[in-house]
Amino acid sequence: MADLITTLIHHPYQPPAGFAAPQPGVFKASTVFFPSVDAMRQFDWKDKTAYTYGLHGTPTTYTLEERLCTLEGGGQCLLVPSGLAAIATVALALLKSGDEVLIPDNAYGPSKALAEGELKAWGITHQYFDPLDLADLAAKITSKTRLVWLEAAGSVSLEFPDLCGQVRTCKAAGVWCALDNTWGAGLAFKPFDLVPAALPALGVDITIHALTKYPSGGGDVLMGSVVTVDEKLHMRLKLCHMRLGLAVGANDAEGVLRALPSLPMRYRAHDDTTRKLAHWARQRSEFAQVLHPALPESAGHGHWLALCENGIGGAAGLFSVIFKPGYAQAQVDTFCDALKLFKIGYSWGGPVSLVMPYELAKMRSSWPQHLQRGTLVRFSVGLETAADLQADLAQALQRLV
Ligand SMILES: *Cc1c(COP(=O)(O)O)cnc(C)c1O
Repeated sequence: MADLITTLIHHPYQPPAGFAAPQPGVFKASTVFFPSVDAMRQFDWKDKTAYTYGLHGTPTTYTLEERLCTLEGGGQCLLVPSGLAAIATVALALLKSGDEVLIPDNAYGPSKALAEGELKAWGITHQYFDPLDLADLAAKITSKTRLVWLEAAGSVSLEFPDLCGQVRTCKAAGVWCALDNTWGAGLAFKPFDLVPAALPALGVDITIHALTKYPSGGGDVLMGSVVTVDEKLHMRLKLCHMRLGLAVGANDAEGVLRALPSLPMRYRAHDDTTRKLAHWARQRSEFAQVLHPALPESAGHGHWLALCENGIGGAAGLFSVIFKPGYAQAQVDTFCDALKLFKIGYSWGGPVSLVMPYELAKMRSSWPQHLQRGTLVRFSVGLETAADLQADLAQALQRLV
């Protein structure tokens, strides 16, 4: 009989198999046991029919990966510790010194910072293209171009590009196109199948998704995913992902698994409230412009209509306003501070509404032609009721005069 300590470590009890409950459970491990040395030698860490090491997958991460593939219509998925890590993983896996990456001028800011920082230092060049001008994208693709990033709608200013045209342009040039799919979340449109019934399917090569936003839904998890349909491309990304040692925490993965079933309903609720507020904001005299893809005057509205309203539909939970130039930055700051339900904070996708003023002039190569000059404020609409949020905006606008 072994000592008590040893018995507690090597306890013989096994719970009965077949436990079934709404949540798939949390499996936590660095080490996983092999049944024999022979099995250890035969198991391939890349093969998802077995377990080799926590870094390479557990029942919890495999389950989340498969559900995210279903959400986005992909075939394979990698999990990483943040949305930005997903962007970086794609760059590191696909680009080498001498290559060039093209990035839309309205891309998620830190994606541009990565290009201007590490990628540049490693001899990988970048160019920004106009997301609303297909000819500009086509003209910037050269023999050095390996990867084109796409984003629909664009960050902060929410222009909706001709995504199908952009993908066709990349395919024609033989370069990879990767979509930051955080806004669409796999719901507004199908990134790997953009045109219903098209044969062969028209789709991006890779999606990255900040699971931090809608899939987590709580503002309490940081995670990202990289989804593909091409097995060879996936394997290239997976090898890089392994060598970089990227892993996610089991409790965080469980947090996303728990929130995933309500994602479509939450997305719809964010969307409904956001459209109400955007329409209301249009009537207000304080704003020079309201930016939201479902508003007819918003840049790329036609593309949004064609792509998203044909699909499950949706326009996410973000809208921005540009204050009339007469309002000084300090007045706009006062407005933001006066909001009570809208909290001042980054990110989006959780239950609490958020507000953030942006200095767009510092974020774009030049001031976009379709935008009026003025201070831009972005709202991330949470799950509060529209009437309460509208009243909050109205009371804070009163502070401007
Ligand atoms: C938030 C966000 C990211 C990054 O996600 P993190 O998990 O915060 O790193 C990437 N792309 C878009 C469009 C985002 O909004």
